[in-house]
Amino acid sequence: MGRLSQIKKTVVMDFDDLCDGNEDLGTLRRLKDRDPNFKVTLFAIPTRCSDALLTKYSMEREWIQLGIHGWRHARYECLSWTSEETEEKLALAREVYPDFAHVFKAPNWEICDEVYAGCKNTGIAVADHYRNIVIMPQDTPHYIYNLKLRDDKLTRLHGHIQPYANTGLSEAYDKWAKPPVGSEYKFISEVIIREKEVH
Ligand SMILES: [Zn+2]
Repeated sequence: MGRLSQIKKTVVMDFDDLCDGNEDLGTLRRLKDRDPNFKVTLFAIPTRCSDALLTKYSMEREWIQLGIHGWRHARYECLSWTSEETEEKLALAREVYPDFAHVFKAPNWEICDEVYAGCKNTGIAVADHYRNIVIMPQDTPHYIYNLKLRDDKLTRLHGHIQPYANTGLSEAYDKWAKPPVGSEYKFISEVIIREKEVH
């Protein structure tokens, strides 16, 4: 093993698309059993989560954080929202689940200026893909996935609850179980950067 691979990094892990009929608490518990430090952020679809599902996850909130993943998860949905509509959707989402972390991720990473503005106005950070750095406004509180930094302090892992191109929770279990046991884990809300940095 090289020197770099031995440095313990903080692990930030998230999975998309939590909703009724698409959940896998069993595999998450397996990861938690493997390493009691394990913590994870799940991006949930507000209109597709029943109270029963949300209640179940709220009982695990010490180690499972829920972020807001669109509204209905329709293709391109965020691209049509004005900033006011974004604010409305975010407020409605937080009525559905008051414990939602102040973090939003657009389905399929499809986001635009209006949605960035709506998130900013409501104090909600954006979880985004690094290819969107070019369109993200300078003052957006954010967490970026797939950032390739030389000395990144974080191990950034992202997948889906469901099987999807080998990024599914149970499908790619070995990948999620790779961080050394005893690693530090953080929720996305704990690693938000306030301003876009120039690299
Ligand atoms: Zn999604």
